[in-house]
Amino acid sequence: PPPVSAHAKSNIKVCRNMNFLEEKILTTGVIKEGNILKVDSFLNHQIDIDIMRQMAYEFKRRFRGVEVNKVLTIEASGIAIATLLGDLYDVPVVFAKKSQTANSTDDKYVSHAYSFTHKKLNDVFISKPYLHATDKVLLVDDFLADGEAAHALIDLVKQAGGEIAGIGIAIEKGQLQEFIHKENLNAFISMLSTTEVFGKGFN
Ligand code: 5GP
Repeated sequence: PPPVSAHAKSNIKVCRNMNFLEEKILTTGVIKEGNILKVDSFLNHQIDIDIMRQMAYEFKRRFRGVEVNKVLTIEASGIAIATLLGDLYDVPVVFAKKSQTANSTDDKYVSHAYSFTHKKLNDVFISKPYLHATDKVLLVDDFLADGEAAHALIDLVKQAGGEIAGIGIAIEKGQLQEFIHKENLNAFISMLSTTEVFGKGFN
């Protein structure tokens, strides 16, 4: 399991309350084939800064007392939330890059993730100067489906010898508990919204 801060242990928290984000999803989200929820109007294409700001405040509130010196996400759609969150913490924001092959591994930490939306295996990497053993990293992403992206980010932090301060997911689709179990996660994991509201056909 990834190393976690003492504070983070015993702090797994999953919130399933209807909230501002769920309302936004219900009013503007579009369900696509393959269990994909499109939220282009505020997250995946156009970015609604007010919603991003609310998400960032909510994550900061939920991770109260947790020491964070870096916010980490994966390109592209996690960047908006991560940026607003980094602003609140006043810490650097790093986003892992994706490509089908990261040729040279010399100066990079490299992991892999199968893309849920693009159905292809990507290398996921971060240049070594941007991730350190002294980092207490708050991971954030827009969606959690099979957990491939989150797993890759955890792996990169582990490779650098850093600590996972917490994991914040904006929208999960019913696989969060399985993910926590699979990763043997001790970190404080929080999500803002679940799409359970759409019923069992969509998970
Ligand atoms: P996972 O790696 O957990 O299978 O999927 C998470 C990643 O895939 C996220 O980084 C997100 O970009 C993308 N993703 C997964 N499910 C959805 C979805 O329903 N809608 C959108 N827009 N992106 C998704």
